[in-house]
Amino acid sequence: MARYRMAMDDRARLLNQTAALAADFLRGLPERPVRASATRDELLAAMGGPLPEHGEAPGEVVADLARAADPGLVASAGPRYFGFVIGGSLPAALAADWLTSAWDNNAGLYAIGPSASVAEEVAAGWLIDLFGLPAGSSVGFSTGATMASFTALAAGRHRVLERLGWNVEDDGLQGAPEIAVVVGAEAHVTIHVSLQMLGLGRSRVHRVAADEQGRMRPDALRATLAEVRDRPVLVCAQSGNVNTGAFDPLPEIVAVVRELANGWLHVDGAFGLWAATAPTLRHLTAGLADADSWTTDAHKWLNVPYDSGIAIVRDAAAHHAAMTLGAAYYVETAGGERDPYNWVAESSRQARGFAIYAALRSLGRDGLAAMIERGCALARRMADGLRDDPGVAILNDVVLNQVLVRFAPPGGADPTAPDPDVDAFTREVIAAVQADGTCWLGGTTWHGMAAMRISVSNWSTTEADADLSVTAIRRCRDNVAASRGEPSP
Ligand SMILES: *Cc1c(COP(=O)(O)O)cnc(C)c1O
Repeated sequence: MARYRMAMDDRARLLNQTAALAADFLRGLPERPVRASATRDELLAAMGGPLPEHGEAPGEVVADLARAADPGLVASAGPRYFGFVIGGSLPAALAADWLTSAWDNNAGLYAIGPSASVAEEVAAGWLIDLFGLPAGSSVGFSTGATMASFTALAAGRHRVLERLGWNVEDDGLQGAPEIAVVVGAEAHVTIHVSLQMLGLGRSRVHRVAADEQGRMRPDALRATLAEVRDRPVLVCAQSGNVNTGAFDPLPEIVAVVRELANGWLHVDGAFGLWAATAPTLRHLTAGLADADSWTTDAHKWLNVPYDSGIAIVRDAAAHHAAMTLGAAYYVETAGGERDPYNWVAESSRQARGFAIYAALRSLGRDGLAAMIERGCALARRMADGLRDDPGVAILNDVVLNQVLVRFAPPGGADPTAPDPDVDAFTREVIAAVQADGTCWLGGTTWHGMAAMRISVSNWSTTEADADLSVTAIRRCRDNVAASRGEPSP
């Protein structure tokens, strides 16, 4: 006991010292260059070397780690990181995440973490309410959207085969009735990865053509389903295209899928699902509640630390059957205790519910809506700040938080048209912005054209950050143009 207390004093000192290091990092976050500043070799030199023969003092280990890692940190948690679809950490979510590690409860089983289980149960109820999904839907807290889609599609795979008398969990897919998998041409790559892991094949899919914004075309879906309607069918739609932010037209898709004798409709809304929580954006997700399963991420737009994905399934029994480590048939315990391992593909894991719970409580319904609407308003602001220039084109309708930008070199090329020279110039501008460090954004290819992609997903981004970033992007464009020896258009 005495020994524990002594050790405890040291541990408290270590935690306070670490909190100070974390606060220093967060304080500097808006000012530091957004990109990393060290190469792999430099980081290896700072962090590598042989495993020490003898242990080192924890305080020194942590202080050294913070020093060595710093130049290789990307300020992706900060206000001017617009790459991929990322998001930072809300203060309450970060603090709850620390407590989660200190508590170190295993969220696999109710018995080893009753509060972890109940935090998930409460958060699940709030999320279903916020997204307007059917009461009684089941929720699994996964590592990310990839595993959430894996989970939801496993539930669908279970149900469509169970209806034909086939138990896929017991008997596998060999010899099973063949499932037709139908995905939008613009489905996220992780949908294909989920299908790969489910034994359905990443390429053994029917692809449905999309329109110019990347939305699944209901007429094309109808034509595809006409070919496979005698089979069990899994359809994967999307709320929030990773390039354009566009939403598949769910009311039409639902109507077509409901005509099938044995269909299942999954919606990947890794970031777009959050539109359903905001009054001015909710119309984008019309029809959402009529799907069978949904994927979203908490570590993107809810601004919870990594890692945190969410799978929601209307048919709780199918969800349970697909994921449970225990008895295949779902029986509620007398006390209603929820074993989290029945709803995701993991047994032992972190108690992800605490940070989600804290994020949602600290925002409230109105704060969440405001955060999502603010991200969209800032995306429009950046698009407007860039588009009033003849050498710049915004390629998408900015309906959400995503903006695609393309830059023409001096000399009057059309930035909206496919043109290898415009591709090359756009890539040079992206590289220049990344090197500049004011903000960070990445490149993508849209309809065969190179484009810069802006995603506004961080809770702390302000109008000033958006404007500073637009100015930096324009300056980098001018510098790249000048280095080609001609004035910018
Ligand atoms: C980010 C994203 C995913 C994958 O999410 P992870 O959390 O990285 O697994 C899936 N679908 C869409 C639309 C996304 O934007």
